[in-house]
Amino acid sequence: MKKILVTGGAGFLGSHLCEKLLAAGGDVLCVDNYFTGSKQNIAHLAANPYFELMRHDITFPLYVEVDQIYNLACPASPVHYQFDPVQTTKTSVHGAINMLGLAKRVKARILQASTSEVYGDPEVHPQPEDYLGRVNPIGPRSCYDEGKRCAETLFFDYHRQHKLEIKVARIFNTYGPRMHPNDGRVVSNFIMQALKNDDITLYGDGLQTRSFCYVDDLVAALVKLMDSAAAFTGPVNLGNPAEVSMRALAEKILALTGSKSKLAFKLLPQDDPKQRQPDITLARKELGWQPHTALDDGLKETIRYFRTLLN
Ligand code: NAD
Ligand code: UDP
Repeated sequence: MKKILVTGGAGFLGSHLCEKLLAAGGDVLCVDNYFTGSKQNIAHLAANPYFELMRHDITFPLYVEVDQIYNLACPASPVHYQFDPVQTTKTSVHGAINMLGLAKRVKARILQASTSEVYGDPEVHPQPEDYLGRVNPIGPRSCYDEGKRCAETLFFDYHRQHKLEIKVARIFNTYGPRMHPNDGRVVSNFIMQALKNDDITLYGDGLQTRSFCYVDDLVAALVKLMDSAAAFTGPVNLGNPAEVSMRALAEKILALTGSKSKLAFKLLPQDDPKQRQPDITLARKELGWQPHTALDDGLKETIRYFRTLLN
């Protein structure tokens, strides 16, 4: 049985990943400091003898014996990662050093949950992996963007210097059940606002775009990437290329929830990327992967989940 460490396993993506790895016969160690994750996200896994939970902050060293490491620990929503920006950088950078050191000692393969934010506010559209990005190093998003960029550097240096088997996934906006209802991300905000008939907060003119991937599709890609040929390191874009403006997203959520909410235009946050769409040619070729869930179907599942939180 493969012993698999998932850092950030009590978070949104991590909890779905733990579920999938257990279902595939893995022996899963979930490590989390519960900064944004919760025990509720993984409570349904607790009875499984092959699931183990450890409270630990990855900015401190960790000594365990495992075969694979998925490094997901890091707050992902702008509200959460800007709450304590120094800790965000520490989690990405010191956390990566600790997890890479662990991987080196136990000769484990290690996957990094990187992000489309490494492209910043891009001038190239859609974004291929060889686009080097346009990131502000000193703005409010920099703790996350530059932290993740530095983590990628560390992964590739460990690979070149210590021959570590690495996998780098550049994840684009992903949504689904178990997103934090107050994380300030657009999908959770709009659905919670719509279900409560509160104003829908559209930042700027709402014409900025994102491309949303449903969580099941994304987690399937992470596992395929981890299990891909050793020579394939990435970075590889993982996301759904179907692009939508925030205004169109708001209108879709209003229609799907039957809400009476009105659109309320608010100031656009600093450095908010104007457009984002993954070029997934590489993932299609190397992993034989592409997302299958249409935005309407994924939103219906997500709305169903958020309704249960309000009941
Ligand atoms: P999340 O906030 O739900 O999960 C992150 C988890 O990491 C939480 O459980 C949190 O408690 C834990 N954590 C944070 N700092 C930690 C630390 N120092 N030590 C141990 N645990 C810590 O976010 P998510 O959406 O599930 O994102 C998971 C990963 O995927 C993150 O690394 C994020 O950057 C990356 N990612 C996510 C998206 C997305 O759209 N969801 C997009 C790009 C990248
Ligand atoms: N956004 C919005 N209203 C909200 C929350 C977010 O209009 O209540 C916009 C935000 O300005 C950005 C997009 O939605 O343009 C996606 O924001 P999110 O925080 O989900 O993720 P990002 O891709 O910016 O990290």
